[in-house]
Amino acid sequence: MTPAAPRLLMSSLALAITVSAGVFLSPVQAQTRPDAAGVASAAAVAASAEATQGRARNVILFLADAGGVASINAASLAAYGEPLRLHIQQWPNLGLSETSPVDDFVSDSANGMSAIVTGVKTRNGVISQSPDAVRGQRDGTPTKTLLEYAEEHGLLTGVVTNMPITDATPAATYAHANDRGRWGEIFPQAFSPRFGDGVDVLIGAGRRQIGEQMAARGASFEALSRTHRRPIYAALDQVPAANPRPVVVADQIDVRAAALKALDLLQGSPKGYLLVIEWDAHTDDPRQGLRNIADLDRLIAEIQGRVDLGDTLMLFTADHSFGLQVDGGTRGQDVLEGYDAWKASQADDEVVRLKNVLVNRTHTAEEVPALAIGPGADRVRGYFPNTHLFDVMMGAWGWTSDADRAD
Ligand SMILES: [Zn+2]
Repeated sequence: MTPAAPRLLMSSLALAITVSAGVFLSPVQAQTRPDAAGVASAAAVAASAEATQGRARNVILFLADAGGVASINAASLAAYGEPLRLHIQQWPNLGLSETSPVDDFVSDSANGMSAIVTGVKTRNGVISQSPDAVRGQRDGTPTKTLLEYAEEHGLLTGVVTNMPITDATPAATYAHANDRGRWGEIFPQAFSPRFGDGVDVLIGAGRRQIGEQMAARGASFEALSRTHRRPIYAALDQVPAANPRPVVVADQIDVRAAALKALDLLQGSPKGYLLVIEWDAHTDDPRQGLRNIADLDRLIAEIQGRVDLGDTLMLFTADHSFGLQVDGGTRGQDVLEGYDAWKASQADDEVVRLKNVLVNRTHTAEEVPALAIGPGADRVRGYFPNTHLFDVMMGAWGWTSDADRAD
């Protein structure tokens, strides 16, 4: 098979899924999901094997915050009425990523994401600092992030989230802090980068709260914007077409529109790019959380249709898992039966008991899925600590971390 053929096949495949998004079962999904014998199509397997060779020019990291194995399964059941219907569940490379901090068993987003983007596990609450940091009291050493490496190498970088742009997960890519709660300290770091010219496309929510926290420190969006000669827009549609490095801090984010805008801008890079896209997948509200996973999955299919898997590594994972389990249900019936009554009752118990779904509304310790396609994706297999994902992404670019170089 020529190198061009599988790429063509994979991108046309993703495109077809994009076009058919919303249809219960597209012909393409039918074609690519495991058939009755449980075997993925030979063409898809061959194509993905081909795509794992060589170096990546671009890396796209999709982070479903709290998207554990059980939540991914439940998202497929809730959205499509069947298991294994998500686009990412067709990807050829799967591993289980262990998320704990250095001192506990269960991770929060700060440690979970810091470990993925710096290769160093730390403590809960700490944003991309070494584990000798004491939350809220003492700084550790800043641990160099994937985004900082990308900036140092002259790539374009982008971070998109439906959550506040200063929330622990996005913050871990561009900031260093001993306490994830210090948004007034975290946000300005995007404008004073340690490497390159800093994150190029930054789009997230949280405008009101970030504004309040900055005001408490005598800062503001306006002052920051003036000092760094960089506008901070309050909505995505305020970004002029001519601005190649937009910062948007809105009250609410349309993740799809934001991600496609970021991709458009980053794809203009002469040297490649890093794009990080986070979508919250906590299932405290099970319907909302599972919907977010299905929506993120559709976005991933759409983005896959716009990139060349011959030079772009796409990686999906979570920062930690969450206590959701499907323990009943019948094909053809809504797996979230009883949700509307629960929602109407406004109950706020720690444990939610629907007919077929039990939600212990807390983070949990078990490993989370890591799924990958594109150059370097074949290193995503087996059980591994989440820090391995940093090595996978660095290795895909062919880069050596400063720590490895010093050894
Ligand atoms: Zn999280």
